[in-house]
Amino acid sequence: MYKIKILLLSMTVAIFAISSVVSSLRHHHVTELITGSMKAVNWAVSELDRELYQFMHSLQLVALDFEGAADVQLRFDILWSRIDVLAVGEENRMFRERHGAVELLENLKHELERFEPEVFALTGGDPAAERLMREFAPIQKQVREFYVNNFSIKSTRDNLTRIFDAHTGEDYYLYGLLLSGAMLILLVIRESRINRRQAFRDPLTGLPNRACFNGCLQDAIMSLEPGKNQQMALYTLDLDNFKGVNDYLGHGAGDIFLKEVARRLSELPAPCKVARLGGDEFIILQPAVQGRGECLQLIERIKQQFDDEIEVDGHRQFAQMSIGISLYPQDAAEAEQLMSHADTAMYTAKKTRGTSYCFFEPYMNEKAIRQRVLTDALSQALMRGEVRQVYQPIVCLQTRDIKLVESLVRWHHDIYGDISPAEVIDIAEKSGLAQTLNEWALEQACQQNVRWQQAGLPAIRVAVNISPTMYSHCDLAEIVQRLLTKTGMSANDLVLEVTEDTASHDIENSANVLPKLREMGVELALDDFGTGYSSLSHLQEMPFQILKIDKSFIWKIHQSGYDIRFIRAIITLAKGLGMRVVAEGIEQQAQYAEMFAEGCDYGQGFLFSRPVSGEEMVVKLSHMQQQRVGSSSLSASERLAETLPTSV
Ligand code: C2E
Ligand code: MG
Ligand code: MG
Repeated sequence: MYKIKILLLSMTVAIFAISSVVSSLRHHHVTELITGSMKAVNWAVSELDRELYQFMHSLQLVALDFEGAADVQLRFDILWSRIDVLAVGEENRMFRERHGAVELLENLKHELERFEPEVFALTGGDPAAERLMREFAPIQKQVREFYVNNFSIKSTRDNLTRIFDAHTGEDYYLYGLLLSGAMLILLVIRESRINRRQAFRDPLTGLPNRACFNGCLQDAIMSLEPGKNQQMALYTLDLDNFKGVNDYLGHGAGDIFLKEVARRLSELPAPCKVARLGGDEFIILQPAVQGRGECLQLIERIKQQFDDEIEVDGHRQFAQMSIGISLYPQDAAEAEQLMSHADTAMYTAKKTRGTSYCFFEPYMNEKAIRQRVLTDALSQALMRGEVRQVYQPIVCLQTRDIKLVESLVRWHHDIYGDISPAEVIDIAEKSGLAQTLNEWALEQACQQNVRWQQAGLPAIRVAVNISPTMYSHCDLAEIVQRLLTKTGMSANDLVLEVTEDTASHDIENSANVLPKLREMGVELALDDFGTGYSSLSHLQEMPFQILKIDKSFIWKIHQSGYDIRFIRAIITLAKGLGMRVVAEGIEQQAQYAEMFAEGCDYGQGFLFSRPVSGEEMVVKLSHMQQQRVGSSSLSASERLAETLPTSV
């Protein structure tokens, strides 16, 4: 396309240049020619007139006997030769082309031929000379008239006509100029059309782009008649599984996938208008709706469009999407706000499990505002020490000794109060603060453990949670090594917790980073097990030493219809793979007893301790130290009986 454009432009410039040069040369040539020919004609006529006049004058002198006949005869010959010169030759062609010129020459020649014998028979004072003057007088008159006419208006007009005729030959070049001009104009029109198209179209899918859609939305709002209770609906769509398609099948496949999504969306019935906002985000405007019922019908229709999988490079994949809907005018009176509300609703749909669409509700905005405020505040809070760490013991179920403490983040915000760790992590992940927060948590935990140990408390290990971004995008092993060196804690005292979700989403990283950490002596725990989708083969490949059964399973123990065989299978599997097992969320004696009976190694939960501050932990560890001293006098069987739940 670009090459054709350059070729056309070069051709146009070449034609224009050649035409201009040739036209100018030709113009110059024609002007020279015409000027030259006019000069030549004028000269030829005046010479003829002058020669004839001199011949007549010499006749008169002979008649008066002032001169001999030889001069007349000489003038006669000169006149004759002048006629011969004018009758032939290219330089006198313009003269001969004058109207009446050839006749004049012939007449004159005829007269000369007729009177030649007499002219050559003349003698000085010969009365025949006077007669000859009379004989030649009419032809002299003719020559004089021709001479005068040559300078007349008519002659000038004839000359102009000749110039014009000569210029007519230049039309060819003029057409060249016009043609190149027309080509240039066509090129400009074509380019501006392409530019317009590109400015308003999404190049990948061919759908209108954001700029175009904004215009459509504004127009649609303007076109609604006030007071007529007309409504419009705006839908923003975001693909849930597009990242997976891109990551696993490549960007080429991702493009094919997006194109197919765009094609299916563009088949929605008129007057719906579809556009691509960018990435995997699309938007639909439904210009006239009666209410939510009609919106639900369109959502149903959208879902039907995606009933079939999309085939990309031999792989078949469903397009899963989250849809947010905002309604005009009740949700917002301005286009920009309407779009932002649809976006907010879409994000809510995305975050809500089992929901593919959401209508905008004002509370969603409050959530969005909260998220924005907290995002802005988090980095400051980290610097000002408003974010702190608490520690929750993980105990050996047999001895109830604290073997490990899990460090957990806490943040009290001035306006919103206590912010849950899940929200803190979510905000950090979305605002690019994940690495800062994780590093901070890791350093705090190591420092704290070193302080406990320096205080002579029983040696424990500390477990630190690693969030997805930190796990996937940073050189985790290097950071851990740096912080261990900085704080002086031994790698053997550190456990890193990675959720099953995070580990199974980034298998490649798990294979790279986990062995490095293991080599350093750091232990690895697979957190929240049972909530993710790790396959057995992945479990076998990943070097985890600890498996933490998610608290949701523990809480189901003793609920009606619960089957302990599931937990039993997890414990058997973990032990079979050489892992120790932690039961999270133990709140009741019965749960403790059950997990102990199933052979679970460790427990974590409010039954043993809630998460506490570093100072409170000192008390707990001192207490444990004293108990150890006290119970060292008991026999092993007495000690065990003391720790076990009563039901066991
Ligand atoms: P987690 O790693 O599974 O941590 C255990 C969570 O279970 C903690 O919640 C703890 O307070 C809670 N828990 C423990 N025992 C019981 C119990 O008996 N009953 C109840 N109801 N809850 C119990 P918390 O502190 O709210 O933390 C939630 C999640 O936030 C953590 O789950 C962890 O994934 C994440 N998190 C917390 N702190 C950090 C941190 O510093 N860094 C990172 N990356 N994630 C963190
Ligand atoms: Mg954890
Ligand atoms: Mg957990």
